[in-house]
Amino acid sequence: MTARSLSICHLFPEALNLYGDGGNILTLAKRLEWRGIEARIEEVPLTETPSFAATDIVFIGGGSDREQRIVCERLLERKAELEAYVRDGGVLLAVCGGYQLLGHSYAMGEETLEGLGLVDLSTSRGTPRLIGNILIESELVGRVVGYENHGGRTHLGSGVEPLGRVLFGHGNDGESGAEGCVSGNVLGTYIHGPLLPKNPAVADWVLARALERRYGSAELEPLDDAEELAANAVMAERLLRGEEKE
Ligand code: GLN
Repeated sequence: MTARSLSICHLFPEALNLYGDGGNILTLAKRLEWRGIEARIEEVPLTETPSFAATDIVFIGGGSDREQRIVCERLLERKAELEAYVRDGGVLLAVCGGYQLLGHSYAMGEETLEGLGLVDLSTSRGTPRLIGNILIESELVGRVVGYENHGGRTHLGSGVEPLGRVLFGHGNDGESGAEGCVSGNVLGTYIHGPLLPKNPAVADWVLARALERRYGSAELEPLDDAEELAANAVMAERLLRGEEKE
């Protein structure tokens, strides 16, 4: 078989990289490398204009409202390219601030940021901030653990599936029990942690989708995730018992 490789585009890492979001990129790269698949990482700073022609995975991390305002303009300049990429089945993972910008808008009091409109969802800032450990149950990827810290309340359009249901924590809006979104090969979530080192099934979902699009096969060689899964289970059980402290 010819050597396989995937290209991962980390958008605006200097502005969107909260609570270890950069660890998500390292996780994707390592899990490819361990399987003998090359990972090409493209860090795209705000000063550069990204092209997605050869991209397999786009990652957009979290940021404060201030940082979101800055990146929003840059993202909107690339809206058409991102739309085309997503329409073509391009894989996109977005966390927290990045997740909010996938939608139509993020209303922050007097100011409303226009979003990319890639997924039918919208967000408005509320009080209090929704902060703490979180555990969700997802049909797609099982139990996902992590950390959330957001003022935004995100509401999904009627046709959009959440990533999972909240078992502990707040999720999209603190009320509906929904967390994140999955729309084709786009996955959005409020879960930092970072998300992927703590939840290898989410990392492999992303990789499988990208491999399928590029090479026509989503098959992934299993890895020894005993340590990650044990850590995930300890945290999940702690939260199910109602213990918030780590
Ligand atoms: N600024 C957004 C909010 O507070 C997202 C924060 C984040 O990415 N953690 O809702």
